[in-house]
Amino acid sequence: TLFSIGLTGGIGSGKTTVANLFGERGAALIDTDAIAHQLTTPGGVAINAIRTAFGDSFIGADGAMDRARMRAHVFADAAARKRLEAVLHPLIRSETARAAQAARGDYLIFVVPLLVESQQWRTRTSRILVVDCSEDVQIARVMQRNGMTRAQVEAIMAAQATRAERLAAADDVIENNGDAAALLPQIERLHALYLSMAKTNRD
Ligand code: ATP
Repeated sequence: TLFSIGLTGGIGSGKTTVANLFGERGAALIDTDAIAHQLTTPGGVAINAIRTAFGDSFIGADGAMDRARMRAHVFADAAARKRLEAVLHPLIRSETARAAQAARGDYLIFVVPLLVESQQWRTRTSRILVVDCSEDVQIARVMQRNGMTRAQVEAIMAAQATRAERLAAADDVIENNGDAAALLPQIERLHALYLSMAKTNRD
């Protein structure tokens, strides 16, 4: 399999923006959030297990998991949240492993929002890249993009690792307080590094 980098950062830090810039330069990208989402769409590989564990009422007429209902259910019940995680986590693991096997590119970037929080992800990647910005910038971007209030964004941030925890886990950091142009020299430098590391790994 390809030399792999785990890309992470807090909500709204710019993970997707940064990942796409590496993708344009030849990196293979695996978005773990998108894979997790696909598991519970119609025909998704988690649907039967969710039906067994939670009952028909959590599967909508279209065959997808009823997200709003499940969210409300697990929000109110920690044991139910654990059961949902017990269904989803092994499937996320196997589906991402399968995607990694099939990936073609100079190296592989897994985009993992909660990478620092997950021992499993920390051991599955050779290198951790953190997209970092100030909390004020993070809040402003998410308020703008999602139409959320400051309090809503802060509540999500409170459930994630802190900025300091992410930076402590990082091998590489991209600073994203500025505009898109400010990203490019940082991307170029790391792309060259990752190409050489991928090559060394192969030799
Ligand atoms: P999430 O965790 O919420 O999925 P993310 O970390 O993937 O977010 P992005 O979606 O890349 O972050 O960026 C969040 C928002 O901020 C987007 O609307 C994006 O267009 C914008 N953004 C990111 N970086 C910059 C930048 N350098 N300049 C201007 N806007 C930016």
